Amino acid sequence: MQAQLAVASRATPKLFTRVPPPNFSNATHRARCLAQLRSKTNGLEKYIYLNGLKERDPTLFYSLLYDNMREMVPILYTPTVGDACQNYSHIWRRPEGLYISIGDKGRIREVLSTWPHVREGRIAVVTDGSRILGLGDLGANGLPISVGKLDLYIAGAGIRPSSTVPICLDLGTSTQKYLDDPLYIGVRRPRPSAEEMDEFMIEFMAAMKDVFPDLLVQFEDFSTDNAFKYLDMFRNSYRCFNDDIQGTGAVVLSGFLNAARLSSKASGRPLTEQRILFFGAGSAGVGVAKQLLSFFKINGLSEEDATKQIWTVDSKGLITADRKGLQEHKKFFARTDYEGPPLTNLIDIINYVQPTALLGLSTMRNAFTKDVVDAMAAHNPRPIIFPLSNPVSLCEVDYEDAVEWTNGEVIFASGSPYTPFERNAKTFEPGQGNNMYIFPGIGLGTLLSKSSRVTDTMVEQASIALAQSLNEDEKEKELVYPRLNRIRDISAKIALAVVRAAQAASVDGSPALRHVADNALLEYIKEQMWHPNGPKSRF
Ligand code: NAD
Repeated sequence: MQAQLAVASRATPKLFTRVPPPNFSNATHRARCLAQLRSKTNGLEKYIYLNGLKERDPTLFYSLLYDNMREMVPILYTPTVGDACQNYSHIWRRPEGLYISIGDKGRIREVLSTWPHVREGRIAVVTDGSRILGLGDLGANGLPISVGKLDLYIAGAGIRPSSTVPICLDLGTSTQKYLDDPLYIGVRRPRPSAEEMDEFMIEFMAAMKDVFPDLLVQFEDFSTDNAFKYLDMFRNSYRCFNDDIQGTGAVVLSGFLNAARLSSKASGRPLTEQRILFFGAGSAGVGVAKQLLSFFKINGLSEEDATKQIWTVDSKGLITADRKGLQEHKKFFARTDYEGPPLTNLIDIINYVQPTALLGLSTMRNAFTKDVVDAMAAHNPRPIIFPLSNPVSLCEVDYEDAVEWTNGEVIFASGSPYTPFERNAKTFEPGQGNNMYIFPGIGLGTLLSKSSRVTDTMVEQASIALAQSLNEDEKEKELVYPRLNRIRDISAKIALAVVRAAQAASVDGSPALRHVADNALLEYIKEQMWHPNGPKSRF
């Protein structure tokens, strides 16, 4: 019922219900909207303002987003969307997505059918709110995550707004604060048992395929165990992927491909001799480490030899196979070649491993101290340091410090955005391992190729295409990721690689595209993209 009510009042937005002033000009109004946005002093207010603008004038909203990615993405997505989620029940203004509640079990198909653009549905981002960013179980407050990701699909890959379906599965929450909040928007109950949730998800996915036959489902911010479980459960029978698992791995692999090239050039070491130390071995750390095996395999190593190039560290120190009670997900990279006393200090670990790259996924703010960075620099003319923990308040080292402490030699990418800065008359531009680089292109390529599923090679090829998408200026400046303002160009290149990978794996459903040459296909992909003021796309 809740979902139906939400859908029923989803009115078509209109810019003006009264007559605008005689001197009204679109260009001035654009500037006015940007000025209004910039006049807001806190992120949440900016988020609320942009949300209102989207409701009043979606064309203007998407056009501003497209032209001001660097400024607006951190508001609509991480980090500000985190605030929006935490406060969602209080800032809620209007329905903007589809809630499917645990009480809808048994009639999910019926509820999905109430969506006003069923035939146009192409991409759904689905969260159950159980692990929103690093903020925990936010229950039904998780919807802005789906809305935000889909805004990035629209801006970044030219998916038509009416083809996007933001979904929050309202299954209860384990966070008492929300259950006690009189304004909480979701159902007031604890989360279901694993068995009940499995039944719900099986019914949900079958109903999604029924109601939206052309849809790609992107799972987002499920609790770690469920994220892996449902990806495994559905990836071979539905067109779906999980951005936290596959998107993150792919975007870090891409940055690492470029970083390793720069570091190996400076040290003279072959790429296969890159040695990667992961500080943090949670789901993100181990997931990214597994994706980085591809780096070594692409360069000719076997899986076994690739595994030997990766070391992992958790709160107890270097992870070794002889440690008692080692959690299952940590066993894969546990070292069998270390025999000394437990190594617990990061500098000792760096001196033992002599890594070329230090990747942080630990949530430990400032864990990469000057001494740690110095130790990396002592072993490498150009150390690779990727502090990937989000948001900035959890980041292992700030960009300016890493640059300063390495005298400008660090090859850097972070999980959160940092701003460029000047040092000794040189501009330093930080890389950001932002999933936004990759998922719009994966989605676009999957839709265009009409693939029945999203394979590992489609994701890997997306990653390689992103790494190769640097233009001459970006290469000259030694960036590891391209600039975000070229996102459509990048997404088109990624989509092309994804289409080709789908064809190679024979999961594609658009046989005609097999005979189109790469250049022509790239142009075709760009032509399909929706532009706020342009012709309609097919998506
Ligand atoms: P998690 O809590 O599951 O894992 C944290 C890991 O860090 C654990 O292995 C823990 O033992 C280790 N750790 C904690 N304190 C430590 C210490 N003092 N010394 C050494 N290790 C320590 O978290 P997660 O889901 O794996 O995510 C980790 C971080 O990665 C988060 O901040 C998340 O935002 C970030 N992340 C970034 C991206 C991206 O940049 N694209 C994507 C996904 C996750």
